[in-house]
Amino acid sequence: MIIKKTKAEIERMARAGAVVARAHEELMEQLRPGMTTLDLDRIAEKVIVGSGAIPSFKGYRGFPATLCTSPNDQIVHGIPSADVVLDEGDVISIDCGAIVEGFHGDSATTLIVGGEDATSPEVRRLVRQTRNAMWRGLEQARHGNRLGDVGAAIEAVASEDDYGVVREYVGHGIGRALHEDPSVPNYGRAGKGLRMTKGWVIAIEPMFNLGTERTRTLEDEWTVVTEDGSLSAHWEHTVAITEDGPWVLTARSDEPAHPLSEAVPTY
Ligand code: MG
Ligand code: MG
Repeated sequence: MIIKKTKAEIERMARAGAVVARAHEELMEQLRPGMTTLDLDRIAEKVIVGSGAIPSFKGYRGFPATLCTSPNDQIVHGIPSADVVLDEGDVISIDCGAIVEGFHGDSATTLIVGGEDATSPEVRRLVRQTRNAMWRGLEQARHGNRLGDVGAAIEAVASEDDYGVVREYVGHGIGRALHEDPSVPNYGRAGKGLRMTKGWVIAIEPMFNLGTERTRTLEDEWTVVTEDGSLSAHWEHTVAITEDGPWVLTARSDEPAHPLSEAVPTY
C-alpha cells in the first residue's frame, strides 16, 4: 500500500532530510585517508543526535550502526568497523538515514578517499555517472509520470558505459517507515509501471557496478558485494512528488532542492 503524505508531512520529512544532508556534508568535509568506517559512523551519529534526530538504521532489523559504509566492491549495507581503514583511492558508499518528528530521510553518497584525483578515470566516471543517473531519475519524479520513467532514465545512463545495474536492491517509498511501497527499480521501460501522484515520497538510489550486476551477501548477513569483486557506486536522495515538481528533501546546500530546476546537475 502506498501511503501518500500531506503537505505538512512532507515539510516534516524535509526537516528529516535536512539532518541527513548535514550529516553528509560533515562526512564529506572530514573524510581522510586513515580514517576507519567506524570514525565515519561516529561523525554522522553526532550530527544526527546533536540535531535532536534519531538514526534510522541503528536497530533496523538489528542493524548495529548509524551508517551503512560500503567500500570498493561492497555495494550496500556494509557495517562500520574500527578494523576497516580507508586508504587513499578507496571508493566508499555512505548511506545515512534520520528520523525527525516520526518521519525518515534517506540519502547516500559515494566518495573517493583522498579526492577524485586519487583514483583512475574509469572509477571516477563510475562514481559520477551513478550520481548523474540519480539526478536523471529524480527529475522524472513528477505527478503523472510512471515508475518506469524513473527506472528507464537511470538505466539509460548505465547503458552508456555498460555498467551492471544492481537489480536485487532498489529504491523505495519512505515515510513513517524507512521502507514503504512502492519498490523503485533502477531499470524499466518509460511509460510503464505505476503512475506517480503528488503526495508520494520515494527514495531513488541507483547502484552501478563496473562489472556484473550480480550480488552476493557476506556471512555477516548484511554486507552486499558484487559477485565478481568489481567496484560499485551508489547515490541516493529522498524526493517528494509535489504539484510544483520534484522536491529533493535530502538535498545538500550545493544541490537543487525545490522546485527542481530544468538544470539538474551534471557531474
Ligand atoms: Mg539509504
Ligand atoms: Mg534507501
